[in-house]
Amino acid sequence: MKSFTYAGSPARILFGSGRSAEVSSAVKALDCRRALVLATPHQKADAEALSERLGALSVGVFSGAVMHTPVDVTEKALKVVKETEADCVVSLGGGSTTGLGKAIAYRTDLPQVVIPTTYAGSEVTPILGQTEGGRKTTVRNASILPEVVIYDPDLTLGLPVGMSVTSGLNAMAHAVEGLYAQDRDPVSTLMALDGLRAFRDSLPVLVKSPHDPDARAEALYGAWLCGTVLGTVGMALHHKICHTLGGSFDTPHAETHAVMLPHTAAFNAEAAEQELAAAAELFGGSIGGGLWDFTKSIGAPLSLKDFGLTEADLDRAADIATENPYWNPRPIDRTSIRTLLQQAWEGVRPD
Ligand code: NAD
Repeated sequence: MKSFTYAGSPARILFGSGRSAEVSSAVKALDCRRALVLATPHQKADAEALSERLGALSVGVFSGAVMHTPVDVTEKALKVVKETEADCVVSLGGGSTTGLGKAIAYRTDLPQVVIPTTYAGSEVTPILGQTEGGRKTTVRNASILPEVVIYDPDLTLGLPVGMSVTSGLNAMAHAVEGLYAQDRDPVSTLMALDGLRAFRDSLPVLVKSPHDPDARAEALYGAWLCGTVLGTVGMALHHKICHTLGGSFDTPHAETHAVMLPHTAAFNAEAAEQELAAAAELFGGSIGGGLWDFTKSIGAPLSLKDFGLTEADLDRAADIATENPYWNPRPIDRTSIRTLLQQAWEGVRPD
């Protein structure tokens, strides 16, 4: 066994059907009495219901969260935090709402309770991505990690199938990259493998029966595992490319991860053969081809072309992705990354 460093996440995780009913006790356990509930405009009604459930513990709802955590939205929310004298935030929603809660916590150190309703996994990472003047930057800081996460599968029953699939593949990408991360540890590897297994088993069921409570619970369990892996270890080529495509070409976040995952996994398959062997087994023996077959079978997008990217965009994306590359098990050069992007653009099955 190689040497390793292990630091367990200090977050408190409450998991199970109906457990969002425990939100008031979660707020009180943090010694807080004035919670501001956060959501996107789309989930405003759910946030208001949650605020009612909190009763006197809620100071209101801010439902202006949007994708990529723009700093001007954070500033608006901070004004509300100040006016209402909020002493914690309760984020109800996906990565966009969680991002806003993290941005507030980063600036105020207010504690966060997160109730995730997608599988993105942001709720268990100390990472905040935010945008200002069209530029996305990422910070990692202990104050960003939410204190409490309540995973209630009942709140995911209505997550549309398309979003369930792409959001699940987004989480799976955290796990695949966690398996070959330089700073992986035995626990992150266990979590990554069981996270991949959980999504392999649950997503095909959800495509056919979106309200299946067991499959919903299994997928949310996978989200916790894969998100925790992302929060624990460093990411490589896959996340770099998705960050480049999302940040510079505004491609949709989860869908981009879904398209790229089989290709980046195939790219690293040989260099990280041993590290990826158990994951390859889960998908029929070939990590790249197997993930592509899985992605196709659950109706996820397969081609970057569908996001309106042109071949000229691929040239620029290859330049940006190789300018300041993250560490990757297989060395990166512009030619091989351009080829990889071409394959993902065409939507062909990787070898
Ligand atoms: P999202 O939060 O943007 O949600 C997309 C839309 O779906 C929103 O309108 C939302 O209100 C709605 N929605 C969410 N849950 C729903 C449900 N159960 N039913 C119906 N509608 C629902 O999507 P996402 O993919 O969860 O998050 C993407 C964002 O998260 C990106 O900005 C990404 O950068 C960030 N992210 C950050 C990290 C991190 O560690 N920092 C990790 C993963 C993703």
